[in-house]
Amino acid sequence: MTSTESNISFFNTLTRGKEVFKPLEEGKVKMYTCGPTVYDYAHIGNFRAFLFEDLLKRWLAYRGFKVTHVMNLTDIDDKTIKGSQKQQIPLKQYTDFYVKAFFEDIKALNIQPADVYPRATEFVPEMVALIKTLMDKGYAYRGEDGSIYYSVCKFPSYGKLSNIKVGELKAGARVSQDEYCKEEAQDFALWKAWTPEDGDVFWETELGKGRPGWHIECSAMSMKYLGETFDIHCGGVDNMFPHHENEIAQSEAATGKKFVNYWLHNEHLLVEGKKMSKRFGNFYTLRDLLAKGYDPIVIRYLLMSTHYRQQFNFTFEGLESAKSAIERLKNFVRRLHEADGKDSVRKVAAFAEKLEVCFGGSLDDDLDIGIALASLFDFVREINSLLDANSVSKQEAADLGGLMMKIDEVLGVIGKVEVEEALPADIDALVKKREEARKAKNWKEADAIRTQLKGLGIVLEDTAQGIRWHKEKA
Ligand code: AMP
Ligand code: ZN
Repeated sequence: MTSTESNISFFNTLTRGKEVFKPLEEGKVKMYTCGPTVYDYAHIGNFRAFLFEDLLKRWLAYRGFKVTHVMNLTDIDDKTIKGSQKQQIPLKQYTDFYVKAFFEDIKALNIQPADVYPRATEFVPEMVALIKTLMDKGYAYRGEDGSIYYSVCKFPSYGKLSNIKVGELKAGARVSQDEYCKEEAQDFALWKAWTPEDGDVFWETELGKGRPGWHIECSAMSMKYLGETFDIHCGGVDNMFPHHENEIAQSEAATGKKFVNYWLHNEHLLVEGKKMSKRFGNFYTLRDLLAKGYDPIVIRYLLMSTHYRQQFNFTFEGLESAKSAIERLKNFVRRLHEADGKDSVRKVAAFAEKLEVCFGGSLDDDLDIGIALASLFDFVREINSLLDANSVSKQEAADLGGLMMKIDEVLGVIGKVEVEEALPADIDALVKKREEARKAKNWKEADAIRTQLKGLGIVLEDTAQGIRWHKEKA
């Protein structure tokens, strides 16, 4: 299928409906995603957002699009300044540490890197130029505190993304913090005049001595890399207002053009019904979970397997189910490597075609990963039955192995599967002893041997064709 024939549709926050995806340039997608504020380790709620974006990108690539992905790193804002002051180290040294940690985390989660990761502190001249344009055009003004504010009431379509009502705007109400009240439209800071609390963090510019606000960085850096209008902009629902609303106001007022065609927002990861957030203290970082012995790929699976527009609760049971799901997929691929039965007479091919239609159709439909995964597990069950009956030939199994690899380009959870090698004699003897115990229905002994083998890193699986085994991942 070529990109022009694709049937991908997305729920666009801007229009509150599903729309067929048509990029500005055929076969190419320009996409911007709001990245982390590097003042601490990201928590797994943040990674839910980054994993949804990874799935989106992988799916577009699967459908043949060439994606250009830009993700900013917010290395200057109220929180990073406070953090560096607390540790009494320069801002750059402080944020470098968390940038490095972020890259380590996304690698562990098998998130494909963006094409560029612009850091806000490296694009201050671009932000200054944008603010100057907004002032020249009458959208921005200098407050009595010396900071420059965006005049929300000058931009008639302010509120079109988040449905915030500007009519309720109090005259002159303005806000200088980066994050502010969710319910009110207010004039927001584009440029913050230096105050003693900023310490040595400032730039001397045509706008005066100070630093940029949070929202202007994403307008400046997205347009720098992707142009004045681009295809997709993503972020969590908490970014919709004020951050994304402000990005639209800044960019569209400056250029007079539509900023972004498709806005995609992921819902939150919750803990006991409440948004996982640093502010509520109810968060786990990836590192917290790795320290408890969880495999990052299991965490990846859990975080990406619920539809992105649905909230869901993080639980440890959820991680256990994710672990079993991955094991099931890996075992399946392992079995395919070993298959050498009779030809299924097109049954295998029919199941494979059905999978491609169902898996692809669901992901085309606003990335419906839940249905896509359900169709994958139906397929695994059906082929496993054929394998049990020794009805999959070597060639058919090889074709299915290729299909699973293709699907894993999208999921990123199977990876390279270790195929069985000959067992060392002592372990082989234990496996045989357990089989005898099972035949004799001596379940207690069979279980004890299974546990003993597990201790040696060997995991047994009882299948219709007898015992299978694999080495547990270290
Ligand atoms: P931040 O570092 O706070 O700017 O957040 C980075 C990304 O994570 C943004 O897209 C947020 O909207 C998103 N995010 C924050 N908390 C959650 C959560 N609990 N669940 C899902 N996404 C989140
Ligand atoms: Zn942003």
